Amino acid sequence: MAIRDKYDLEELGNEMEEFVFQELEKQLDAISDDDICKCHDCVLDMICLSLNQLEPRYRVSLMGTLYAKVESQELEEKIKHVVADVLMKVSQNPGH
Ligand SMILES: [Zn+2]
Repeated sequence: MAIRDKYDLEELGNEMEEFVFQELEKQLDAISDDDICKCHDCVLDMICLSLNQLEPRYRVSLMGTLYAKVESQELEEKIKHVVADVLMKVSQNPGH
């Protein structure tokens, strides 16, 4: 049985992705384009590295849309910290 063919896996979503997108957007907006590379490769690297350091938050969304909200101050701080750290690492050592 092919799970992929039998079930609609599009309804699966990782809320942590949304949290990281929002935080990265905020932090990148606060830095001038002259000070950091915001190209496609660097930003995708930042997203991957951040997500690999954070616990996934998978859920089923019947709406197909995720209205994600960070539920604790502690988690919010952790996401901020991870994203800031990754942002600096990638900008200092871009993959190109
Ligand atoms: Zn770049």
